This record gives sequence, structure tokens and C-alpha cells, in this order.
Amino acid sequence: MSNAEKDPTAVVCEPGSGAGDAVPRVEVLTPRDVPLGGPRAMTVRRTLPQRARSLIGAWCFADHYGPDDVATTGGMDVAPHPHTGLQTVSWLFTGEIEHRDSLGTHAYVRPGELNLMTSGRGISHSEVSTPATSTLHGVQLWVALPESARDTAPAFQHYAPTPVHVSGAELRVFLGTLAGDTSPVPTFTPLLGAEILLPPRATLTLPLDPAFEHGLLVDAGPVRLADTLLNRSDLGHLPEGTPTLTLTNESDATARTILLGGTPFGEPVLMWWNFVGRTTQDITQARTDWMTGDRFGEVKGYDGASLPAPELPNVPLKPRGNVR
Ligand code: MN
Repeated sequence: MSNAEKDPTAVVCEPGSGAGDAVPRVEVLTPRDVPLGGPRAMTVRRTLPQRARSLIGAWCFADHYGPDDVATTGGMDVAPHPHTGLQTVSWLFTGEIEHRDSLGTHAYVRPGELNLMTSGRGISHSEVSTPATSTLHGVQLWVALPESARDTAPAFQHYAPTPVHVSGAELRVFLGTLAGDTSPVPTFTPLLGAEILLPPRATLTLPLDPAFEHGLLVDAGPVRLADTLLNRSDLGHLPEGTPTLTLTNESDATARTILLGGTPFGEPVLMWWNFVGRTTQDITQARTDWMTGDRFGEVKGYDGASLPAPELPNVPLKPRGNVR
């Protein structure tokens, strides 16, 4: 997915602080609506980055969307666009998305299947919901690459986790380890990503890695995280040092959440549009390379023009109200 903001904010992402409180201190990050662009403008609910917090582990971007009736929203049609310094994680609950990238990958994103694209130094891709899709519902997440890996070779990986069942809950661990299940997909920093389905009114307790901070994104709820109520599209943050996840479904339907985690990233990064860099020079070079160069290759098979980069604000890029 592409950040479709007309005037994307430059974001300096710095790690937050955390403490091992006996009762987990949950910070509630509420979403803002962002239209993806296009004539009918499918809208996503973004919880990362935001003023209060820009990173959870290496997770630096979290969009939640749907369930959308594609006949109304027009579905997803994101023309070829570039990425640097990050990985994109596409995870669907309903629907199907056709992915094409400059490596020549042609893949379908389907519910319950991880599609992980590593931009490394540069990749471009398009994402289009398929004609078979009537309802589109899922998340788009980005992972910042650490300095040691941000110029790594671009790559694309697919993994369909086998669901695991823990005291009535159903878990799909797509990155990292949870409840004894481990994803085989390697990561560049310690990470966790898992979908959790929880029966009506049920409570789930799971051990967490205390070296991680965590974020719980609510798709269907409300749910109670420790003693804090989280509504749909809220992202509840648990600081590092939290030993246990205690999650209660406060509804009479199945609750669905995405649990994200990772060790605090420890490197400030600069995000602008679809790029993660370290300096203004990184960003301006990436923009120039997209508009005029061949760094990002070519997406074959997409019917239409590529997305132009937005205009850069006056350099140097400055954070606008998103510093901790
Ligand atoms: Mn994208």
C-alpha cells in the first residue's frame, strides 16, 4: 500500500520508554481516517505513526481497513509506487489482493496468509483487489529495517501459518513466536506478529517476551487488554517488561485482534511518503530516484501509470508534532 496523503508529514521515529510495572500500563492509540485516494477513496484507519507514538518494536506503520463493500468503495487500486528501508506486511481477513512487484513477483494476498515484501534499498509494487472480491478487510503494516539491513536486497515471502488453539482462542503466528508456535519467516530485528480470535466473553492469558514492547490492534471487539478497554481500530500499547498478555472479549461475537511486538527499535528513523531513511538526503535521493531513475525497477502487468511522488516540503525535513 502507498501512503496517499497529499502532503505526507515527515516523521522522526524515536523509541518510547517503558517500565516493567506490576499492572501493565496500557497506552491507547486511537486511529485517524486516511483516504487512500482514487475516485471513490477507500479509507483506512491509521494508528501508527502518530503524535503519541511512532514505533512499536520495528513496527512503524499500521493501517486497518474494512470490512468495506467493494461495490461502494471501489476496492483497492494502488498503482506502482516505491519503498525503501522497510518491509510491508499484508494480512487480510476477507477478500483478495493481486500483488505485482519489480522483482517480477506476481502473488495473491489471501486471508490468513502472510505476504512480506522487503524493500531493502528499493522496490516498487502495485496492489489491486481482485474482481472476485466483494468485501475487503485487513491490515497493512510496515516494519522499519535496522541500519545493518536497510540496504539489503529486495525480496518477497509468503507464509500461511497453521492455526494454533489455546484455551478456546485461535492464533495465527505469522512472524516471531507466540504460544509455542514460531513462524519460519526470518526478521531483521526481533519481532512478533499474530492474529488472535477470541470467543465471546472469553479471556486469554499468554506469556509475553518481556524484552518486547507490544501493540494490540483491535479489528472486532471491544476487548479488554489488562484493565483497559479497546474499541475497534484502537491500538493498545504495552511497554517492554510486561510478562503476560491478559485479553478479554467484552462482546457477544468473536473478537479479532492483531498482536504486534518487538524489542524497542533503538534507532531514530525518518519516514516520508513510502520511504524510511535516516537523513533528509536519504529521502530526497529516494524521491529523485523514483521520479527519474531506475533504482526501483519496473512493475510489469499493472494497467495504468505509476504513482508520482508528492512534492517534498522545504528541506531539511522536519518532524511535525510527532516527536516523543
Ligand atoms: Mn506499498
